[in-house]
Amino acid sequence: MKSWTCIENCGACCKFDLHEREDILDVLDEEDLKLISKMTGKDGWCKYFDKENKKCKIYMDRPHFCRVDKFSNSFNEYKKNRDKFLIKCCKQHIESIYGKKSDQMNTFKNKINSK
Ligand code: SF4
Ligand code: SF4
Repeated sequence: MKSWTCIENCGACCKFDLHEREDILDVLDEEDLKLISKMTGKDGWCKYFDKENKKCKIYMDRPHFCRVDKFSNSFNEYKKNRDKFLIKCCKQHIESIYGKKSDQMNTFKNKINSK
Protein backbone atom coordinates (compact mmCIF):
# COMPACT_ATOMS: atom_id res chain seq x y z
CA MET A 1 0.00 0.00 0.00
CA LYS A 2 1.18 3.52 -0.81
CA SER A 3 2.07 5.79 2.10
CA TRP A 4 1.66 9.53 2.07
CA THR A 5 4.68 11.74 2.38
CA CYS A 6 5.35 15.41 1.82
CA ILE A 7 8.07 16.34 -0.67
CA GLU A 8 10.66 19.11 -0.85
CA ASN A 9 10.34 21.86 -3.43
CA CYS A 10 6.52 21.81 -3.51
CA GLY A 11 4.27 23.95 -1.30
CA ALA A 12 1.32 23.43 -3.63
CA CYS A 13 -0.98 23.42 -0.59
CA CYS A 14 0.33 26.85 0.48
CA LYS A 15 -1.87 28.60 -2.07
CA PHE A 16 -5.23 29.06 -0.46
CA ASP A 17 -8.24 28.67 -2.64
CA LEU A 18 -10.99 27.73 -0.27
CA HIS A 19 -13.50 27.45 -3.12
CA GLU A 20 -11.48 24.57 -4.49
CA ARG A 21 -11.30 23.00 -1.04
CA GLU A 22 -14.88 22.96 0.14
CA ASP A 23 -14.32 20.02 2.50
CA ILE A 24 -11.82 22.12 4.44
CA LEU A 25 -14.50 24.69 5.33
CA ASP A 26 -16.26 22.07 7.43
CA VAL A 27 -13.24 21.58 9.66
CA LEU A 28 -12.03 25.17 10.09
CA ASP A 29 -13.46 27.52 12.70
CA GLU A 30 -13.93 31.31 12.58
CA GLU A 31 -10.46 31.98 14.03
CA ASP A 32 -8.82 29.74 11.43
CA LEU A 33 -10.66 31.51 8.62
CA LYS A 34 -9.61 34.92 9.96
CA LEU A 35 -6.01 33.75 10.17
CA ILE A 36 -6.09 32.32 6.65
CA SER A 37 -7.47 35.59 5.38
CA LYS A 38 -4.60 37.49 7.11
CA MET A 39 -2.03 35.04 5.79
CA THR A 40 -3.20 35.17 2.19
CA GLY A 41 -1.43 37.48 -0.21
CA LYS A 42 -3.09 39.20 -3.18
CA ASP A 43 -1.94 36.39 -5.46
CA GLY A 44 -3.56 33.76 -3.25
CA TRP A 45 -0.29 32.38 -1.88
CA CYS A 46 0.43 32.27 1.82
CA LYS A 47 2.59 35.25 2.78
CA TYR A 48 4.91 32.89 4.65
CA PHE A 49 5.69 30.83 1.59
CA ASP A 50 9.11 31.54 0.13
CA LYS A 51 8.22 31.11 -3.55
CA GLU A 52 11.80 31.20 -4.75
CA ASN A 53 12.95 28.34 -2.55
CA LYS A 54 9.51 26.75 -2.18
CA LYS A 55 9.76 26.59 1.58
CA CYS A 56 7.66 27.67 4.55
CA LYS A 57 9.34 30.59 6.33
CA ILE A 58 7.65 29.77 9.65
CA TYR A 59 7.77 25.98 9.43
CA MET A 60 8.31 25.34 13.15
CA ASP A 61 5.53 27.80 14.07
CA ARG A 62 3.07 27.10 11.27
CA PRO A 63 -0.63 26.98 12.23
CA HIS A 64 -2.36 23.74 13.14
CA PHE A 65 -4.09 23.48 9.77
CA CYS A 66 -0.68 23.30 8.05
CA ARG A 67 0.34 20.29 10.14
CA VAL A 68 -0.88 17.46 7.98
CA ASP A 69 -0.06 14.70 10.47
CA LYS A 70 -2.46 16.13 13.06
CA PHE A 71 -4.91 18.17 10.99
CA SER A 72 -5.77 15.20 8.77
CA ASN A 73 -7.62 13.67 11.73
CA SER A 74 -10.25 16.40 11.38
CA PHE A 75 -11.46 14.91 8.09
CA ASN A 76 -13.95 12.04 8.11
CA GLU A 77 -12.53 10.88 4.79
CA TYR A 78 -9.12 10.54 6.41
CA LYS A 79 -10.57 8.38 9.16
CA LYS A 80 -11.98 6.09 6.46
CA ASN A 81 -9.25 6.14 3.83
CA ARG A 82 -6.13 7.30 5.72
CA ASP A 83 -3.14 7.91 3.41
CA LYS A 84 -5.21 7.36 0.28
CA PHE A 85 -7.11 10.55 1.14
CA LEU A 86 -3.90 12.54 1.78
CA ILE A 87 -2.38 11.32 -1.48
CA LYS A 88 -5.52 12.37 -3.36
CA CYS A 89 -5.40 15.87 -1.78
CA CYS A 90 -1.71 16.36 -2.59
CA LYS A 91 -2.22 15.22 -6.18
CA GLN A 92 -5.09 17.71 -6.57
CA HIS A 93 -2.99 20.57 -5.18
CA ILE A 94 0.08 19.66 -7.21
CA GLU A 95 -1.90 19.29 -10.41
CA SER A 96 -3.68 22.59 -9.97
CA ILE A 97 -0.48 24.53 -9.15
CA TYR A 98 2.26 22.82 -11.16
CA GLY A 99 0.42 20.53 -13.59
CA LYS A 100 -0.11 16.81 -14.11
CA LYS A 101 3.28 16.27 -15.70
CA SER A 102 5.29 18.58 -13.46
CA ASP A 103 8.52 17.67 -11.68
CA GLN A 104 6.63 17.97 -8.40
CA MET A 105 4.01 15.44 -9.54
CA ASN A 106 6.68 12.99 -10.70
CA THR A 107 8.65 13.38 -7.50
CA PHE A 108 5.53 12.94 -5.39
CA LYS A 109 4.45 9.80 -7.26
CA ASN A 110 7.94 8.30 -7.06
CA LYS A 111 8.17 9.03 -3.37
CA ILE A 112 4.82 7.48 -2.43
CA ASN A 113 5.55 4.45 -4.60
CA SER A 114 8.91 3.89 -2.99
CA LYS A 115 7.66 3.95 0.59
S1 SF4 B 1 0.92 19.54 -1.66
FE1 SF4 B 1 1.45 17.72 -0.47
S2 SF4 B 1 3.55 17.27 -1.06
FE2 SF4 B 1 3.15 19.38 -1.68
S3 SF4 B 1 3.85 20.63 0.08
FE3 SF4 B 1 1.65 20.24 0.35
S4 SF4 B 1 1.59 18.42 1.68
FE4 SF4 B 1 3.64 18.51 0.80
S1 SF4 C 1 2.32 28.80 7.05
FE1 SF4 C 1 3.85 27.69 5.91
S2 SF4 C 1 3.00 25.64 5.61
FE2 SF4 C 1 1.33 27.00 6.18
S3 SF4 C 1 0.48 27.70 4.24
FE3 SF4 C 1 1.98 29.21 4.90
S4 SF4 C 1 3.88 28.63 3.91
FE4 SF4 C 1 2.50 26.88 3.81
